[in-house]
Amino acid sequence: MKILLLGKNGQIGWELQRSLAPLGELVALDRHSTEADGGCGDLARPDALRETVQRLRPHVIVNAAAHTAVERAESEPGLAHTVNTVAPGALADAAHTVGALLVHYSTDYVFDGSGHLPWREDAATTPLSVYGTTKRDGENLVRASGARHLILRTSWVYAARGGNFARTMLRLAQEREHLTVIDDQWGAPTGAELIADVTAHAMRQVLREPACAGTYHLSAAGETSWNGYARFVFDTARALHPALPLKVQDVAPVPSSAFATAARRPLNSRLDTTRLCDTFGLALPHWQLGVRRMLAEILGPTGTSA
Ligand code: NDP
Repeated sequence: MKILLLGKNGQIGWELQRSLAPLGELVALDRHSTEADGGCGDLARPDALRETVQRLRPHVIVNAAAHTAVERAESEPGLAHTVNTVAPGALADAAHTVGALLVHYSTDYVFDGSGHLPWREDAATTPLSVYGTTKRDGENLVRASGARHLILRTSWVYAARGGNFARTMLRLAQEREHLTVIDDQWGAPTGAELIADVTAHAMRQVLREPACAGTYHLSAAGETSWNGYARFVFDTARALHPALPLKVQDVAPVPSSAFATAARRPLNSRLDTTRLCDTFGLALPHWQLGVRRMLAEILGPTGTSA
């Protein structure tokens, strides 16, 4: 089986390089890839992507690339539209032409964040931001293409590699005694490792049972606010490394309106994962398990890499 992976160096893409490798011949590309690497992986060039797919003729395309800079998307909506909407549409058309399965990721930001109940897959999508709108429109093109597809909507993604919320909080906690962190946005921090492992599992099942194709919500179990997430990071870091020089004494809860941002974010990012668990026979772990593992990894055995 030949698998084409796009966005190989993002949080999820990096973990997919690991989880997809045993499943077949993996051609992994990023925006700088050339013919020598296997083809064009630049989502700002949808026509070149089509050519790459038509030449490689993969059995599966996994698109982990996206314009994920939520704030910047507000000031560059044209680029966000090309990368998040036009390119997934082109990939889906090309997948349809060559008979490939397309695995694509989307986001809780397709919802407006109203209410307190976890969002189900069939809930109306009314995004608040350019990022959310372009991701929603990308999903719709994938669904309309006629290609066999798996759209996995996830939330609050983190990975040990690169910058992330936990790392930023740990840095701030070493610099300041008082922090203010938003407590009115709720969701589930979800590890890129978990997403990549579930992707490999679900993808194999869809290849065997095409009726399982469709749109699913994939997030870790449980829920928290960014404020609760930050507190958990500090408590866990202290438990792992009591000598860690964390100055922070209190983490004041504030509403989203305390921070001026260009993009509006949903208050309720809870995702109902029942459909995914039932269809693929999965039990998703609690978000604290993955965050604890990530902290153990980034802090290292002595806590000096915080
Ligand atoms: P990252 O930002 O870590 O990775 C996105 C990747 O896309 C980066 O490697 C980036 O490359 C690449 N990329 C951006 N523009 C282009 C382009 N024009 N051509 C090729 N590659 C490009 O994001 P995640 O791994 O977290 O996100 C993966 C998926 O999950 C996306 O579909 C995203 O919408 C979705 N998602 C993410 C959430 C999150 O909290 N991060 C939450 C919910 C859903 P470069 O580094 O060079 O810019």
